[in-house]
Amino acid sequence: MTVERIPPQAARRQLAELQRRRFALRTAAGAMEFDAATLAAPGNRYARACALAVLNEDRLALTSSAEGIRLMDSLEACAGELDEAEKRELRLLLREGAMQRAVNQEEYCAFRKLAGDIAPAWERAKALNDFSHVEEPLGRLVFAAKRIARQTAPDMPEYDFWLDRHEEGLTAARCEEIFGALRGPLMGLIARFSGLEAPEPGWLHARVPIAAQHRLAHRCMAALGVDADRCRLAVSDRAFTSAFSKYDVRVAACYTPDSFADGLYGVMHECGHALYELGIGSALQFTSLGEGASTGVHECQALFFENQVGRSLAWTRRIWDALTAAVPELLESSPEEFYRAVNALRRTTLRVESDEAAYCLHIMLRFETERALFSGELSARDAPAFWDELSAKYFGLRPKSLAGGILQDSHWTSGEFGYFPAYALGAAGAAQLMEKLGGRSALDCGVGPVCAWLEEHIWRFGAMYPPNALMRRALGGPLDVRYYINYLSDKLSEVYGVDKHA
Ligand SMILES: [Zn+2]
Repeated sequence: MTVERIPPQAARRQLAELQRRRFALRTAAGAMEFDAATLAAPGNRYARACALAVLNEDRLALTSSAEGIRLMDSLEACAGELDEAEKRELRLLLREGAMQRAVNQEEYCAFRKLAGDIAPAWERAKALNDFSHVEEPLGRLVFAAKRIARQTAPDMPEYDFWLDRHEEGLTAARCEEIFGALRGPLMGLIARFSGLEAPEPGWLHARVPIAAQHRLAHRCMAALGVDADRCRLAVSDRAFTSAFSKYDVRVAACYTPDSFADGLYGVMHECGHALYELGIGSALQFTSLGEGASTGVHECQALFFENQVGRSLAWTRRIWDALTAAVPELLESSPEEFYRAVNALRRTTLRVESDEAAYCLHIMLRFETERALFSGELSARDAPAFWDELSAKYFGLRPKSLAGGILQDSHWTSGEFGYFPAYALGAAGAAQLMEKLGGRSALDCGVGPVCAWLEEHIWRFGAMYPPNALMRRALGGPLDVRYYINYLSDKLSEVYGVDKHA
């Protein structure tokens, strides 16, 4: 039976109506999730999960119910009559609902359930340091993820489907090309500098009350020009950012009393995400275009503010008064000493505690493990040994436990594969962006001109262009990881007081 198409004018009106509904459902779910992580009572977990399930189902049904599919098909049929923004909206909506449309409902629910069921097993395996608790469900989850990929995108290699889901257009071959160019130089930098004496002043672990860290975070946000009328800061047990539109962005900070620098750079990172969302063009708001272009572009902005700005000497000098007010122990120190301490290498098997030089190696480890699991070269049973082997190769360290090794990130428990490689693109892209802006001296006149440039070249476009095209235009060419290597090499030479060319 053929379904009658909706005439072009009506289809365009329905597209606008769909975006209005999608915006409302997304805002409601996002606000509940932010509330859950900051203020909501833990006893509300079950009720909230029920409400969120309804909101999310309704949002996905907009493009995958019979009516939604009819609208998508009708819009595709009259694509020639759509303007550029509508064409892009259609493309993003098709991507968003692709799995729901392609995969049989029962199988999709089984996949989600499998992922949900792994979470408690994951926690048990971590607590008991015994991988056997997750081995079997992980194997089944990978098998199911491959089937979902085949059904949704039969023309794509299975792992590429998952990579593309997080970063439109990214493939395993492209990752390997980028990682291939990064791997040797990064390992070389770590080998060269890790033998040198690292600055580790006592104040790095000074006890700084949460309230003082929160005040410092507010002062950093103000110094970055984050608009307090449209962006709020809360405290949570993890740092993250939620944006409902450019008029309501929420940052959650996570503080621990004896490592204030982690809290501070976490806030700088999240401010990068927040500034991006706050800078998206007004005309794109309340549609699929009024969001960041991709995980990679978002991480690029976040890592730009965390590392290129936050860990620079110019910025450290700029916030020195606020820093010493929060951490009186720093009065004995100087911005220069602070700069060296927070840029020194940190040898660890934990991604979240990694230094900048090892960061992309942590990502490669995840990429190589997932790719091997998907290709069938690696079984779930052998995954921990594979992981530990790569950890030894990249960091010269074997994880002491599963919690410090293969079980440290929980993205697989939400059924997400191919999630991390975009982070490496972001890290390398951030260094190239800084170079494009004129290098470190770009910060000499404060962050205002830097933010204005980013808004002009990246932020205001939202999701209007595919991430690769957007970044290529902003950078004036393709991603070139040599900028990242040079940046690290310069900075580490300075931190350890050695001649770069020696
Ligand atoms: Zn981030």
